[in-house]
Amino acid sequence: MRIPAYFSAAYAPDEVPLLARLGTTRDRLQRLGLVDLHEAAPLDPAALDGLHDAAYLQAFLAGIEPMASRQGIRWSPRVRDATLAMLGGQLQAAQHAIERGGIAMNIARGFHHAHPAAGSGFCPVNGLALLAHAMPGRRILVIDCDEHGGNGTEEFAARLPNLHAVSIFGTRFGCRGGVRSWAHHITREQGFPAYLDALRQAASLVLQVTPDLLVYQAGADCHRDDPKSQLRLSTTEMFQRDLAVFRLARRRRIPLLFVVAGGYQSADRVAYLNSNTVRAARHAWQEPIAP
Ligand SMILES: [Zn+2]
Repeated sequence: MRIPAYFSAAYAPDEVPLLARLGTTRDRLQRLGLVDLHEAAPLDPAALDGLHDAAYLQAFLAGIEPMASRQGIRWSPRVRDATLAMLGGQLQAAQHAIERGGIAMNIARGFHHAHPAAGSGFCPVNGLALLAHAMPGRRILVIDCDEHGGNGTEEFAARLPNLHAVSIFGTRFGCRGGVRSWAHHITREQGFPAYLDALRQAASLVLQVTPDLLVYQAGADCHRDDPKSQLRLSTTEMFQRDLAVFRLARRRRIPLLFVVAGGYQSADRVAYLNSNTVRAARHAWQEPIAP
């Protein structure tokens, strides 16, 4: 089985190393035969109206400084176009998962730090909140397992009645939980048992919310060799983490979209961790489920 995965060359401009590594991940997934690639079409910028504050959106789309680069990646037309391409792929992958009652990947970042007023933390536009904004009739539940808390998505959850956000993290990044959002700060001392417990709590939330779409952000920066990691999860623990989320969607028959995030080791190492996430997806999707 190959996982349907959305991507386009525009996602990964060479001159932006943080984004270029998405191309390394794409190459590895294709080489290993793990994905069935779909060409992503860029998002029409009009679809962003009302998501972020108008002044910020205008600045980012037109390259008006200093606002346009405030998220941490120096703005250029290619950075804007990469963002719109990834956001287009995000919606297309979500629709793929919903319409076929299954699973799809966007080989992109979720951009969870972007908050309503502006981009932040290398995240120009929040691609997780975008799903709730673009599909107001669908209940969206995000499970964010990046090293860093999804503070931007948390702010959006308080604004968008169909957006629910769970964040399980080692580095808080301002994430505290709030209206329709739940924050789980796991310390290194608490370790993986506490992490699994937070995932179990997320599973019971899924039963309450009954989402139309589960969105999983599989951060690679909680790995023990990552320079930004506080959680220090092993490769095996990260696989168990991924498998727990994928099984949750599979066994409850909830359409699932997943993205990658973080990852500050070498591009090859991050691509390896990302491909393990796709292996976990395939593993869960091949398991028989009760009728
Ligand atoms: Zn991160």
